[in-house]
Amino acid sequence: MRINDHPILSFPETETITFSYQGREINAKRGETIAAALHNAGITELRNSGDRERGRGLFCAIGKCSSCLMKVDGVPNVRTCITMVQEGMEVEKQTGFPEIPSKSTKLKSEIIEKKSPEVLVIGGGPAGLRASLTAASAGASVLVIDENPLLGGQMIKQTHKFFGSSDQEAGERGKDIGDRLSREVSDHPEIEVMTSTSAVGIFEEKVGIYKNREKFLKVDPEKTIVATGATEDMIKFPNNDMPGVYGAGGVQTLMNVYGVKPGDRVLMVGAGNVGLIITYQLLQANVEVAAIAEIASEIGGYFVHAAKIRRHGIPIITDHRVSRVEGTEKVERAVIEEVGDSGEVIQGTEKKFDVDVVALAAGLSPSYKLLNHGGCELEFQPALGGHVPKRDKRMRTTREEIYVAGDASGIEEATSAMLEGAIAGADAALSIGKGGPGEEDIIRDAREKLEKLRAGSYYDNLRSGLQEVEKPSRTKEQ
Ligand SMILES: Cc1cc2nc3c(=O)[nH]c(=O)nc-3n(C[C@H](O)[C@H](O)[C@H](O)COP(=O)(O)OP(=O)(O)OC[C@H]3O[C@@H](n4cnc5c(N)ncnc54)[C@H](O)[C@@H]3O)c2cc1C
Repeated sequence: MRINDHPILSFPETETITFSYQGREINAKRGETIAAALHNAGITELRNSGDRERGRGLFCAIGKCSSCLMKVDGVPNVRTCITMVQEGMEVEKQTGFPEIPSKSTKLKSEIIEKKSPEVLVIGGGPAGLRASLTAASAGASVLVIDENPLLGGQMIKQTHKFFGSSDQEAGERGKDIGDRLSREVSDHPEIEVMTSTSAVGIFEEKVGIYKNREKFLKVDPEKTIVATGATEDMIKFPNNDMPGVYGAGGVQTLMNVYGVKPGDRVLMVGAGNVGLIITYQLLQANVEVAAIAEIASEIGGYFVHAAKIRRHGIPIITDHRVSRVEGTEKVERAVIEEVGDSGEVIQGTEKKFDVDVVALAAGLSPSYKLLNHGGCELEFQPALGGHVPKRDKRMRTTREEIYVAGDASGIEEATSAMLEGAIAGADAALSIGKGGPGEEDIIRDAREKLEKLRAGSYYDNLRSGLQEVEKPSRTKEQ
């Protein structure tokens, strides 16, 4: 299942380590996740769900869902998609609802530490990294955490050259932008980085964070910037929980970050930019794509991406929905059907594809749960992808000490995420007496660039959604 030959990426050999899965010895590469190592060994069923005996496989691959929960060294509910494999680990399939582990397990949760950075940034994607750099450059001490083992968020798997504004890194590969920002952050003397570390709750004065398998920390920052990104949307159809149904971004993580193929033959669902780009990346990894099914009558992504796919002879079948997947223990077949103008299924139009992977590129929703838990006022704004926090033009939510930036504030792009991160980072620093006129310039400049990015009729809906949420009800607009 390893990708050996890739036009852009290389996956250098690292030390081989051994762990056990259900008592069986498995070889892995140091630096890969448990889920990636299992996939490479051909094991795609990772757990059985709830009280039902249904196998579940990887879906998001970035720690956002529960599909990959397994028992690791006796500890249940470990997100194996973001937990690095280690020598001698004991990994077991989890069935039903787990029990709380006994004290004799390797969980070290009794260790509690305290930390007091001036600014805590939750999420090390483009928004969080830019926010960290901006706040730290103004003189604030920053702690940035990310629950994934690597910094960079979604950028680390974007091998294509970015679209977006010409003065916002367009034309550069997303991966290279992510690597550059991650290096700058890691090298900055005022920034402390903690990866494999999740924020689990925002309380009245403290934020609770958990360093995977090591310790809990109580952080009491003066300002918190929430840059938790987005979650891939699921589509309802029979057997959508069968191993082999992935979020398209999950497929991308497996391939482009860990160099592991998700399967042999894929049906992509969704012909927006994400579906089109990941289809092309599957081809680059030598994975066959049977077709792209798109429920709308038009392809949503850019013409240039669709043209590349068509040149490879892959049909993009519009006006079709995925109606079910079939298989005994994992996906063996996918069935799509034509839909009419009002969304009704047209009988007798079934098309079957023998595939072992169905990748869903059906949209993203902001990851708002921490903001909700922290008491920030939210609003449902379909134009922004779902529930988003109300905020002012300096990205302050209705809880004055909490900021938001990037996809967590509404689904856009990495370019806008970085600009929002710069605004949040600069204002957080200013509000604790750091920085000065330079930070005001950063905010003004970023706002102007955002306005330019969001200009034009394509963004009419986005702009009206933003107008609704950029009206905080409790904080003072500056
Ligand atoms: C296939 C594809 C192609 C794309 N192409 C482009 C493009 O060409 N141009 C462009 O501008 N944009 C593009 N994008 C969009 C871009 O990747 C995103 O808009 C951008 O990554 C959003 O940045 P972010 O920092 O808000 O979130 P993310 O990049 O998602 O980062 C959020 C981070 O927060 C972490 N996190 C979440 N919850 C917690 C928690 N509780 N505790 C700790 N950490 C947490 C996550 O692990 C993650 O690393 C593309 C996206 C995809 C999927």
